[in-house]
Amino acid sequence: MSAKVWLVGAGPGDPELLTLKAVRALGEAQVVMIDDLVNPAVLEHCPAARVIPVGKRGGCRSTPQAFIHRLMLRYARQGKCVVRLKGGDPCIFGRGGEEAAWLSARGIEVELVNGITAGLAGATQCGISLTRRGVARGVTLVTAHTQDDSHPEWQALARSGTTLVVYMGVGKLEQVQTGLLDGGLDAATPVAMIENASLPQQRECRSNLVSMCRDAQSFGLRSPAILVIGEVAAEGWYGVLSGIAHRA
Ligand code: SAH
Repeated sequence: MSAKVWLVGAGPGDPELLTLKAVRALGEAQVVMIDDLVNPAVLEHCPAARVIPVGKRGGCRSTPQAFIHRLMLRYARQGKCVVRLKGGDPCIFGRGGEEAAWLSARGIEVELVNGITAGLAGATQCGISLTRRGVARGVTLVTAHTQDDSHPEWQALARSGTTLVVYMGVGKLEQVQTGLLDGGLDAATPVAMIENASLPQQRECRSNLVSMCRDAQSFGLRSPAILVIGEVAAEGWYGVLSGIAHRA
């Protein structure tokens, strides 16, 4: 066993959606640094490891990223096998690339392990096929929240002809809605808002572009949730849903 940092995606929540490679890395780990959004149930695969919570609730609110970098480096330099466990996929809005580059630049061996990203899992769990043939010619993963408070080109996205999967959108519903309506996306475009995807407490709120803010409010939509915007968002397990439906 050699010093190494594995940057591992833990998937969206359901522990059965872990990859075999993630399970192997956990089995080899001596130190596991775990993010808030990771389901702690996956820790059954690393009973002997020291587990360190490093999410925002882990007590490192001021300089979390620098703190996490230094902690990974310290353990790797002690010769430990470190697993950095992140929700979903480590490289989809997960800083996996940044962390890998930072560690590699300091001579640490790094391996990235894919996880199933929440946007893809959430759609599938609700019976939505994001690139359904003849309906959507692609899918765009986009975050509504950026560190510098800039926002995506909603108007360009409205014209992209792809299904939009929006991460970190719960606090930005109005901006998403206004940007897409201004970009010419039809007010009746279906929207699915999926909370706690793949977990037993998963809930979905079906709406459309013009009603999404009001519907999210009466539904009590909370983070973590993803938004699926596009014609495919009217699909469900029972075929294409008619009108607006709420299912909890
Ligand atoms: N790397 C992660 C994303 C981290 S950003 C991934 O690939 O999934 C955090 C955002 O991901 C949340 O604000 C939410 O939009 C989404 N998210 C993460 N887990 C989720 C879940 N179980 N259900 C719905 N959305 C989730």
